[in-house]
Order: sequence, then C-alpha cells, then structure tokens
Amino acid sequence: MDTPMQLHNTLTGRKEAFVPLDPQRVTMYVCGPTVYSYAHIGNARPAVVFDVLARVLRRRYPQVVYVRNITDIDDKINAAAVKEGVEIGVIAQRYEKIYLEDMAALGVQPTDFAPRVTEHLPTIIAMIQRLIDSGHAYEAKGHVMFHTLSFDGYGKLSKRDEQALMAGARVEVAPYKKHAGDFVLWKPSTDEQPGWDSPWGRGRPGWHIECSAMAEALLGETIDIHGGGIDLVFPHHENEIAQSTCSHGGKTFARYWLHNGFLNVDSQKMSKSVGNVLLVHELLKSLPGEAMRLVLLTGHYRQPIDWTDEVIGEARKKLDRLYGALRDLGDVAPAAGVTAPEAFISALEDDLNTPMALAELFELARRANKADDAAEKAQLKAQMLDAGLLLGLLQQAPEDWFSWSPAVDGERPGAEEIEALLAQRADARANKQWAESDRIRDELKARGVLVEDSKDGQRWRYL
Ligand code: AMP
Ligand code: ZN
Repeated sequence: MDTPMQLHNTLTGRKEAFVPLDPQRVTMYVCGPTVYSYAHIGNARPAVVFDVLARVLRRRYPQVVYVRNITDIDDKINAAAVKEGVEIGVIAQRYEKIYLEDMAALGVQPTDFAPRVTEHLPTIIAMIQRLIDSGHAYEAKGHVMFHTLSFDGYGKLSKRDEQALMAGARVEVAPYKKHAGDFVLWKPSTDEQPGWDSPWGRGRPGWHIECSAMAEALLGETIDIHGGGIDLVFPHHENEIAQSTCSHGGKTFARYWLHNGFLNVDSQKMSKSVGNVLLVHELLKSLPGEAMRLVLLTGHYRQPIDWTDEVIGEARKKLDRLYGALRDLGDVAPAAGVTAPEAFISALEDDLNTPMALAELFELARRANKADDAAEKAQLKAQMLDAGLLLGLLQQAPEDWFSWSPAVDGERPGAEEIEALLAQRADARANKQWAESDRIRDELKARGVLVEDSKDGQRWRYL
C-alpha cells in the first residue's frame, strides 16, 4: 500500500510513480465513442482497459471520478443522419444505447459521468471565448481557429516540433488559417446542418474542444489521468492540451497521459476496405462477452493485440479452467475478509500488468484444484473471486459460464434435451453399456455440446 502505483506517462515516455493531486479525489477522463455507428472490438479496448484501471484506483483511493464522454456532435453523425433522413439525435441516441449495452456485455462498469457534447455547449463557447480573449485563437470567415504557434508547449505530448514540421511539409492550407497547424475550435453550419448560436454565428464545435470543455466542466482545470487509444495522441490529445492549458492561464491540464495500443485482426489493421471490421454487437452473438474481455486483457495494454480465432479459443479454454476450479469449490463459502493476494495487486499496480496478474490468478486456480483442506479452499475461493472482480472477470455462476450458448442457435439442443440425454447416458453407464454411453456423448458433440465425465458426474457445455 505504501509503494505508489506505477503508470506509464506518454508525456514523459516513462513509467512514473502515480501521485494524485488530491488523494481524496482522483480524477480520470477517457475519450469516448463518436456515436454514429456500432463500436468495433478495437473501440472496446480503451473501454475495458480503463475500466480495469478505474477498479484498481477505486481499491486504493476513497474517491475516483471517472468521466468517459459521448461524442454526439460530429460530422460523421451528421452524414449518417442525412443518409437516414432523421435528426442527429436519433442516430446519436441509438448508437449510444447500443455502445453502453455492448460495453456492459464486456463487463465494463458505468462511469461516474458520461457527458454528451450537446449538454455542454455553453462551456465550449465560454472556453473558445477565453482563448480568443487571451490571444490563442482567432476568428476567420465564421470559423474560430486555435493558433498553435501561440502555445510554446505545442507538440510536447506527441514529440513534434510543429514549426519545423509545417515549414518543410507541403500542406494544403485553408485560406482562413494563419498557420498550417492551426485547428478548428468552431465552424459555421449551413441551414441544413445542425448548429448552435454563438458569438461567431450559428455553427458547431470542433472535436478537440469538446473534450477539453467536458473535462473542465466535470473534473476541473487540472486532472490526474487522461486516457485513450494511441491514435489519439496526435492531433486530438495534443490539441486538448493546447486548448485547456491556454484557457486555464497556463495550468497543467492532465498530469498522466495513458494510451492503449491498437488491436489488429489477423495481423491486419481493421478497415472497411479490407472488410475485417469486427463489431462488438455481432461478435457477442457467437462469443461470450467475458471471453472477449479476457482476450483484451491477456496482453499488456500498451502492446498491440492480434485478434484471431486462436486467441479467442484460448481465452475460452482459460475461462473453462478458472470457472472449472470455482465449480469444483461448489458449496465452499469464500473466506470472509480475504481479498486478492498481494502479488496480484502489485502486478496491476505496476502499470496495469494484466498478463502478470492473470498468471497469479491461474496459480490460485491451480492451487484450488489441488487443495483438500476446507480452510484453504475457502481462502483460495475468496482470493480468486476478488482477483476476478478487479479484472471484471469470474462474476457469474460457473453453471452460467458453462451453459452459455450462442444467440443464433438453430441446431443446438436446449438444456432440457441435453439433461434428458445425459440421464439416458448415466443409465447406460450404470448398466455398463459403454458403446451406448459413447454414442450419446458423440451425438451431443456432433450437435455442439461437449460432455465431460468428472468425479461429480457428467458435465456439459456448448462448444
Ligand atoms: P473513436 O470512436 O473512433 O473516436 O474511437 C474511440 C476509442 O477507440 C478511441 O480511444 C480510439 O483510440 C480507440 N480505438 C479505435 N480503434 C482502435 C483499435 N483498432 N485498437 C485500439 N483502440 C482503438
Ligand atoms: Zn477526447
């Protein structure tokens, strides 16, 4: 408890001791989804990674305020709304709901706040005004632009030298920009486009200012942790830093910047043109959400993940092992007051080392399988469940894990039919009719049901 948590900070490029500004109230902001379509499995990675971080922080600090926004003003939403001939709110509300349901299916707990941009326009407009007043932004042809050269710290997060970069680059510069690297804070809307009244006319905010304003509104001027996927470092997070620092009189915006690595599919970047975009909503029809979560936690959060059939199969087998150990502990009551072992917590507190934490969890399961002392079993069960809780795993009854079945399930027999066939098989075995027993087992296997014989009798699960 005395050793501070270690977190890798993109800003310094190092793992650092995490010391919150106020240990009584730790603050974390993570960039959330733009709700114009279904989330893919890559979008789920930051949701799951920062969910685990929030759980670990909550264990250590009395209050953690975790904000993950919903981007409900964006040109991609406008385009989807035009295509369907509906208001943007219809698209945004539909996909926000689906996003939250999909993330819940992956064991992601609700955040303390999930602000929508549409609820924060006054804060956005006030922030832009302050940037204009302090000389960091300028109005040009209905746009308001942030002037990157006005902020010395620009490029620190992504390690770019903006001036050098722009001097040598052949960038097409919009006529209203003073400098090629300047970015939009506010842009005008046509009558057909959604828009809000502002001192610069009817328009809508740029993406970057939305996060700066929501973070300020809910967490204050300086926050402890800011997270998101590695692709957001530039320009999104670099621009958030510029806007927030300059509108807060130079105060530090976020003290620790954490970025998750990318998820690829069969070693390829997910893309519509390749046709390998895996939507969480679709995957959940054929895979248990918990297995998907385990895949996302099997690698370290900063490393890339390769999503393949093989790693999914392995994750399911691993969960079979963990839930198998818990099922064998059956009626054992978990020992009261016993929590996850020190080594497990230390692994998570060391820059969220989930691979090492999982190794500790498997060690607990291995010991549970061998234990025959009642007190030891009670202790191991409590440790396993608490470790699982910190990772957002092992929170369902083992029977529910083993009887999970895909949503589209025409061919597979239901639980009642399986139980009836297993009763027949038990009779056959009692009468030493081994061929009949094997026939029933093989029939069930052919129909997608795995039967195993254990010391407690027959067990089954869908393949
Ligand atoms: P977006 O809705 O595109 O703004 O993305 C939401 C979050 O998902 C951001 O934090 C992105 O960095 C993250 N993200 C998008 N694609 C991937 C991916 N393939 N792997 C990991 N994270 C991703
Ligand atoms: Zn953001």
